[in-house]
Amino acid sequence: MERTFIAIKPDGVQRKLIGEIIARFEKKGYKLVAMKYIVPKRELAAKHYEEHKGKGFYEGLLDFITSGPIVAMVWQGKGVIATARKMIGQTKPLESECGSIRGDFGIEVGRNIIHGSDSLDSAEREIGIWFSEEEIFDYESSLDNWVYEK
Ligand code: UDP
Repeated sequence: MERTFIAIKPDGVQRKLIGEIIARFEKKGYKLVAMKYIVPKRELAAKHYEEHKGKGFYEGLLDFITSGPIVAMVWQGKGVIATARKMIGQTKPLESECGSIRGDFGIEVGRNIIHGSDSLDSAEREIGIWFSEEEIFDYESSLDNWVYEK
């Protein structure tokens, strides 16, 4: 089953959006298989955002993402990588559809509340950065038959 890495950034935590965001993924039918609440070390954040190294916003992004607690999660389910990106919205909240998380709750690109992996490769890479195999729990849910046809 497909998995993606989702993180509620420091602004999402401060703005009390943890419950709202988790509820959206749960209600969609996706399964939370790993979660941790941490203030990321700069080295970890740098690894996560290494594709942006050298860009103008990079150091500020690392300052921000390490500035307070974040909620790091792995969500599992059919099509979860692409669907989570739709649920999250565009990088710039003002260009995001209303109904998406960034579209509903954000204004500025540097305060866009949430991260979600953008491809299978980045999902696998990011999950490996933030979680060990022992921290991921794939469990049977009695709701599975109500969410999936098979
Ligand atoms: N970002 C920023 N300024 C920019 C572009 C990006 O602060 O001009 C931050 C923003 O938090 C964004 C993150 O860098 O979410 C990663 O950028 P990416 O283009 O990968 O966007 P995402 O995949 O998060 O939508």
